[in-house]
Amino acid sequence: MSTHKAALCKVQMLKLFLTSARCVRITRFHGVCGLSTSTPASSPKVCIVGGGPAGFYTAQHLVKTRTDVQVDIYERLPVPFGLVRFGVAPDHPEVKNVINTFTQTAQHARCSFHGNVRVGKDVTVEELQEAYHAVVLSYGAEGNRTMGVPGEDLAGVYSAKDFVGWYNGLPRNRELRPDLSCETAVILGQGNVALDVARMLLSPVDILKKTDITQHALDALAESSVRRVLIVGRRGPLQVACTIKELREMVNLPGTRPEMEASEFEGIAETLKSLARPRKRLTELLLKAAIETPGEEELEKRNRAERAWGFRFLRRPLEVLPSTDLIRAAGIRLAVNRLEGDGEGVRAVATGEVEDVECGLVISSIGYKSLPIDPAVPFDTRKAIIPNTMGRVQQTAGLYCSGWVKRGPTGVIATTMNDSFDTARTLLQDIGKGTLDVSTVKPGSQGVSALLEKRGVKPVSFSDWEKIDSEETRRGETRGKPREKMLDVGEMLQQSCDFLPSSTVILTNHGRERGLLESCGPGASCRNLQS
Ligand code: FAD
Repeated sequence: MSTHKAALCKVQMLKLFLTSARCVRITRFHGVCGLSTSTPASSPKVCIVGGGPAGFYTAQHLVKTRTDVQVDIYERLPVPFGLVRFGVAPDHPEVKNVINTFTQTAQHARCSFHGNVRVGKDVTVEELQEAYHAVVLSYGAEGNRTMGVPGEDLAGVYSAKDFVGWYNGLPRNRELRPDLSCETAVILGQGNVALDVARMLLSPVDILKKTDITQHALDALAESSVRRVLIVGRRGPLQVACTIKELREMVNLPGTRPEMEASEFEGIAETLKSLARPRKRLTELLLKAAIETPGEEELEKRNRAERAWGFRFLRRPLEVLPSTDLIRAAGIRLAVNRLEGDGEGVRAVATGEVEDVECGLVISSIGYKSLPIDPAVPFDTRKAIIPNTMGRVQQTAGLYCSGWVKRGPTGVIATTMNDSFDTARTLLQDIGKGTLDVSTVKPGSQGVSALLEKRGVKPVSFSDWEKIDSEETRRGETRGKPREKMLDVGEMLQQSCDFLPSSTVILTNHGRERGLLESCGPGASCRNLQS
């Protein structure tokens, strides 16, 4: 939001507050902040669902390419940036620099951010289609794939999604409190997320404490007894799904040594010549860590290391084994596989052999999964994506999608950027060709604000987020970290309206994540209510 708009918004809110009675329903205020004063009434109005990379990159391309388009981003949480905030590992601050670009987009005169609005619940997709010429669904992949094996529900078994959410401060995961009292952890899956989790479990706390990892996770990791992490995959060393950067970070992680089975690498060195360059470099590094005799310096590092990590190949989970009291995970039973076929078509086939591994912590990192948002939107349940052609949602005019919900939960932020630019291009082409009708006047955010107000939902503007941001940064500074994230939606909402007096009551119609704030004002307390 521009400074002018932010100031206007604040003045309007202050005026309303001054004329109001002791109790103010905050829902009276919203809608004023996100309104564009400069765009003509007939300009194309587009709304985007989801304030992650896909949402921001789609918005960026739209406002940059066409000078009359007005874009509103609706985000479920009061804070923007999706997995850049809640997924990317705390020790990857350079990846988070994309936030600067997203901030520029959010502050563009023709773009507005409306946080704390859950589409599909607070407002339906059909209502958004009424209010806008086009709706772009960019709401990511908030579900996760399950292993589907007995024992999956035992204490000590977590999805990587929840574990990552816990150390990154996702409100719904703040109570996870993973039990880190065991010596061995098994991670199922060998992608970059699996390696992020392994690194978080094994990194020296002195490194982590300078990152934006949440303090509660840092405290738990400082007390952790985990000394050994096994990263298990169905297929072989030539099929690992991580990238070389993440593998190199594991290899170079201070205080750790690789611990792998040399027999699992038989015949791999001979295949190197036939591999494409990225796979070849990855495999060379893997071989170096797994079977090469280390030089003097590396040997010394490994001898001093108190923690170990290693890949285990050709293994599929069969069952999480319970402790004697049947409450906790005490191990995992793995089926031993062999590979059939070659190249891209290689398949893992069970040999009939099984292996039990003792461990008290099991983290399944077998993939995120998009979920349907609204019955009005087509959804391919098999592929867990919105069926689309180049971003156009099939059989639904005016509806588009971008990011993970469009193509599935794979690919880095750069992949998501290209994919989102493609969707924006498709949408603009449709306007150009006249297949997307923008001739009628649509109310845009004004119409949606009225609906939200009626439903008691208080959107959070980008300047509201900036208040949360500066408070988090301030809290971080006191601890020598880039930020200390707020973990509670109620606290975020309180921070975003910190100029309201302590007698104000904010009413929202939501449960745990939305919260009901009482006595919202500096130093006032807030509490959540289950709805
Ligand atoms: P998301 O980032 O998930 O954004 C979707 C947004 O939609 C979220 O903000 C969500 O709150 C919102 N939303 C959901 N439902 C609703 C609703 N009903 N109404 C309104 N809003 C809604 N890439 C890299 O390049 N480098 C990395 O180091 C890296 N690390 C990663 C680590 C992890 C653990 C994960 C999972 C991914 C990582 N990625 C990384 C990949 C990157 O995060 C993704 O490519 C990117 O975030 C996908 O963007 P998206 O906008 O489609 O989804």
